[in-house]
Amino acid sequence: MRMYDLIYKKRNGGMLNGEEIKFFVSGITSGEIPDYQASALLMAIYFQGMNEKETATLTLEMAKSGDMVDLSAIPGIKVDKHSTGGVGDKTSLIVGPIVAACGVPVAKMSGRGLGHTGGTVDKMESIPGLNTSINEEAFFSIVRDTGLAIIGQTGNIAPADKKLYALRDVTATVDSIPLIASSIMSKKLAAGSDAILLDVKTGSGAFMKTLDDSIELARAMVAIGENNGCRTMALITDMDKPLGNAIGNALEIAEVVDVLHGSGPQDLLAVSLELAANMLVLADKGGLQQCREMAKTAIAGGLAFAKLKAMVAAQGGSVSVLEDPGKFTIAPCKDEFCAAADGIINKINTEACGIASVALGAGRVRKGEDIDHSAGIVLRKKTGDTVKKGDAIATLYAQNYKQISEAKSILQSAVIISDKAPEQGKSIFARVTIDSVERL
Ligand code: URA
Repeated sequence: MRMYDLIYKKRNGGMLNGEEIKFFVSGITSGEIPDYQASALLMAIYFQGMNEKETATLTLEMAKSGDMVDLSAIPGIKVDKHSTGGVGDKTSLIVGPIVAACGVPVAKMSGRGLGHTGGTVDKMESIPGLNTSINEEAFFSIVRDTGLAIIGQTGNIAPADKKLYALRDVTATVDSIPLIASSIMSKKLAAGSDAILLDVKTGSGAFMKTLDDSIELARAMVAIGENNGCRTMALITDMDKPLGNAIGNALEIAEVVDVLHGSGPQDLLAVSLELAANMLVLADKGGLQQCREMAKTAIAGGLAFAKLKAMVAAQGGSVSVLEDPGKFTIAPCKDEFCAAADGIINKINTEACGIASVALGAGRVRKGEDIDHSAGIVLRKKTGDTVKKGDAIATLYAQNYKQISEAKSILQSAVIISDKAPEQGKSIFARVTIDSVERL
């Protein structure tokens, strides 16, 4: 079999059979297929798509490309959660501790930043000493002993996705339903949880910009999970505004700490509580309303913050930065991005905010590149706020002023100020299960 023929077939709109997908995944895993051929096939898939059968086969082959974790010896329903990617989306680090504090073991495998979106692993690595490269045995022990582990795609779990993810990040092949669904679900199936809550983002900062596309992606992923014996549900949540105020790794961890202390931005708190409550429902902890109350109590009683600290300590990280986020190193160059006119912020293009944070150094432009954990953006105003010309809309942090001026020019066209207030959008649009799509 030749990779050339697979690329040719998919480029012309053909359907790849099981043997061909297996050949591709095993060649990616072993390193026999060069990046340029893998990238060409990814681009062909991007344009031609994949049907349900191809997507299911790609997912299973990627899941089986490495170890499949067996968590069955840990009592209870183990739950996992995954976001399709957003800007300022630090919910995993809030939701995981809440759910674990409610007595449900959380075993989560996360990714790095992808395109304009941030990644939980990159955010976690801004905590000094914290190790996300944990093998299967240590992952198991931390989930068993602490009730919560969040690790990267390390060791030998879904290595095919790890390679494809890094390639997609730099070849403009991220926003494809079969590629996102197979990437996320291969990791989830390999990580061994019994139930999965998917947070499918929609809007200008998401890979899926429309509600219909987001629902289609959610349905594809829910079907893959349920067909493989995993209880799976998805919430479609808003990514038309950055979530919370901080964008960038250490800045976001500081915001996580605020939320777990019961303060922090309300939009972030509300979405996190709803995600946590739905994970608790999946774990049979009660009805939705009861689970919402449990999630709130876990924050108010300090148990969720204690759980975050326990996980960080178990993974070798410094708890002192969580106790005093002022100890985080923040990039030395700082400037404000200011309003160009009086008015109301009608819209902030969220993808542009993500791209601006990459320009500041908080994300990658080339595969495998180091990122600057100390760089990023803190929004001082958000959509719907009234501003006067010259008011600070955001504070930008970077290693040099060239990066700051690049980020400012990206933000210039991203922020629309007018005399019209925007419509008050929802933060949660729909709940998708195997049987239904409930628009909220
Ligand atoms: N998150 C993933 O893990 N994979 C994707 O393709 C997109 C978001």
